Amino acid sequence: MTKTCLIIVDGLRDDTARKCCNWLMGSVAQGDARLWTMQACLPTISAPLYETIHTGLAPADHGLMDNEGLRPCPHPNVFSTLQGAGKTSGVVGHSYFHSLFAGSTFDPFDHVEVDDPHSPITHGRYYSMDGYDADNAVQPAEVDLCGQLWGIAKRHAPDYLLLHSSSCDTLGHTHTGLGAAYERQAGKVDKALAQLIPRLREAGYQVLITADHGMDEHGDHGGDAPSLVNVPFFAFDTAITAPEGQVLDQRALAPTILSFLGVAAPDTMKAAPLA
Ligand SMILES: [Zn+2]
Repeated sequence: MTKTCLIIVDGLRDDTARKCCNWLMGSVAQGDARLWTMQACLPTISAPLYETIHTGLAPADHGLMDNEGLRPCPHPNVFSTLQGAGKTSGVVGHSYFHSLFAGSTFDPFDHVEVDDPHSPITHGRYYSMDGYDADNAVQPAEVDLCGQLWGIAKRHAPDYLLLHSSSCDTLGHTHTGLGAAYERQAGKVDKALAQLIPRLREAGYQVLITADHGMDEHGDHGGDAPSLVNVPFFAFDTAITAPEGQVLDQRALAPTILSFLGVAAPDTMKAAPLA
C-alpha cells in the first residue's frame, strides 16, 4: 500500500498541459514522471466528472449530469470505501466535493474546515467561489491551496489526499481555452505544483495529476470535442507501465487509487485499475 495524492486541475486541456506546464513536462523529460492522455466521460462537466473520478461510473450510470442539484453521492466511491476500510483522507477543493462525498450539503459556516474522524472525508478544506462572475474570479491563489494541502499532509498524513484547483476552468470560461490568460494560468498552477509535489514525494506519497475535462475555443465545455475529452494524466512514483501512447479511461481512476491503497474496489467499479 502506498499513500496516494490525486491532483485535479479543473478544465486543463491535454495540449495546454503539454505546452504550458513546464515543471511537469520537465519531470517527464527527466524520467521522474510519466504522461498519458486520458479520455474524460460525457458530459464534460465538473461535478458529474468529480463523481466519475471517484466512483468509476460514467455520468449516465451514476446519474449526476450537471452541476445543479448536487446530492450526496449514492454510489460506493473512493472516500466511502476508504472509510469502510479504516483509511483516512484529506481534501482541499471546491465545496462540491463536500456536498458529493462528505455526507451533507456544503455550508460555509460549518464546512470550510472539517476535521472529523467519522466523516468519509476525514480532513477537508473547501472554498465556495461564491459570487464568481466574469469580472471577479473569487479564486484562491494556487500556492495557498498547495500550502493547505501540505498542512494536512504534514499534520495528519492521510492515506488519500485530493487537491482540486479551479482556476484554469475559471480563466478558460472568461478568456477561452485558447487565450493567453488561460495558458498563463496553467503555467501558474504548474509553478505552485513544483513546490508541492517534491514535498509530497519526500513524505512518501505517489502523485497523480489530471483534469476533469478540457476547455474549448469559446470558453465552454460539456460536449465531446477533442479539446474537452482529452485531458492529461501525469504519474509520479507509480507502478503504471502502460505505453505512453495508450489513451487511458477516466473510469479507471477510482479502482486505481483503491488498488494503490491496498483496498478492494467495490463491484460497481468495473474498469481495470491502471497497471
Ligand atoms: Zn467549467
